[in-house]
Amino acid sequence: MSEVFDVVVVGGGPAGATAANDLALAGRRVLLLDRAGRVKPCGGAVPPQLLVDFNVPESLLVNHVHAARIVSPKGKHVDMPVEDGWVGMVDRDVFDEWLRERATQHGVERRTGIFSHITRDETGTIVHYTDGRSRHGATASVRTRMVIGADGALSKVAKQEIPRADEGKHVFAYHEIIASPTSDTDSFVADRCDVYYQAKVSPDFYAWVFPHGATTSIGTGTFQQGFGMREAVRELRERTGLAECETIRREGAPIPLKPLPKWDNGRDVVLAGDAAGVVAPASGEGIFYAMTGGRVAADAVMEALASGDGRDLALARKRFMRAHGQVFWVLDIMQSFWYTTDRRRESFVRICDDVDVQRLTFQGYMHKRLVRGNPLAHARIFFKNIGHLTGLVPA
Ligand SMILES: Cc1cc2nc3c(=O)[nH]c(=O)nc-3n(C[C@H](O)[C@H](O)[C@H](O)COP(=O)(O)OP(=O)(O)OC[C@H]3O[C@@H](n4cnc5c(N)ncnc54)[C@H](O)[C@@H]3O)c2cc1C
Repeated sequence: MSEVFDVVVVGGGPAGATAANDLALAGRRVLLLDRAGRVKPCGGAVPPQLLVDFNVPESLLVNHVHAARIVSPKGKHVDMPVEDGWVGMVDRDVFDEWLRERATQHGVERRTGIFSHITRDETGTIVHYTDGRSRHGATASVRTRMVIGADGALSKVAKQEIPRADEGKHVFAYHEIIASPTSDTDSFVADRCDVYYQAKVSPDFYAWVFPHGATTSIGTGTFQQGFGMREAVRELRERTGLAECETIRREGAPIPLKPLPKWDNGRDVVLAGDAAGVVAPASGEGIFYAMTGGRVAADAVMEALASGDGRDLALARKRFMRAHGQVFWVLDIMQSFWYTTDRRRESFVRICDDVDVQRLTFQGYMHKRLVRGNPLAHARIFFKNIGHLTGLVPA
């Protein structure tokens, strides 16, 4: 155990790989510890801003989506074109590996292992991990000055090291990866994402069909543990004519939809990505926010290393929430209100049949900035919302 790292990053998903890469580029000695061997279950939709902010090549996209169709409980649909842009689709096996490999090329040392726990002695912090091959695993340890916990939803690092880490709120998501149909139909278009706001397929979130070129992700999410997600996806596949397509994988995972109240222990550990609870409510978008979380965690770690004051790790959450907290707050209110009953969902889909709403939604999604836009458009949207909320506009 003579080697000492500046930072051990636990987890090699978008958050961990981004944090490790940024730290290595800044000249830090970094170990990226990843369990490896499992592809993250994910719809894979990413905004163009992700490619810009994180210098990711467009060649990693397996599809460019140019429209979204949202479907109401009564089966009415609204088609929303993405004007002046697209939504990108990534396959997580290729995308995540590319991010990890880039970090390695910039000097990160990569090891396969399962995080076990952290101990401390008079000379510093020690991260213990196992090789994961045998039941008890061969235990290994490394010394480090700082740890970034980027080990995803229900993070072990968070559970052990961060106060109030059990205050998270999760949607359970399940999807099937299927072979895409060879031609378009009315209910499947190769460059359109379809989103279903219907209690039957998702009682409190939404169900989706996201085309990835040769394959398609079709899935659902819910807060209700007993809800039959497999049956819901089966029903959706039958309804959309996708029942006969070959099923390649079936998989699920929790999606954390609430930033944890604390991301650091004020000493030597800070969280990033799903581990910190940062997936956008209402949309379930987590990849961009995980990479942003990885970046702010890396910056905070560098400042704490430079100052020698572990309290600087709190800068990660502070900066993230300053940049994105308002959007998370609005989306949380939106989800709490519009996703609760079929009557409200019906109104929600109708509100989306408005060119101003569509523009603001996609501009906000693509560029990750609150769109100031045309004040008249905001006023119109506000009064339409009030109309639907008060029932003055019939559903
Ligand atoms: C079904 C589903 C669909 C989704 N669709 C979308 C979408 O379309 N668009 C979008 O933006 N987001 C989507 N998300 C959310 C998105 O997948 C996550 O927000 C994102 O992957 C978070 O990245 P992360 O790096 O924080 O965590 P993860 O991607 O979960 O990575 C965590 C890493 O840590 C490793 N790890 C875990 N435990 C240990 C351990 N003990 N020791 C070592 N390593 C460990 C894992 O192997 C993994 O590599 C979806 C999520 C689900 C479940």
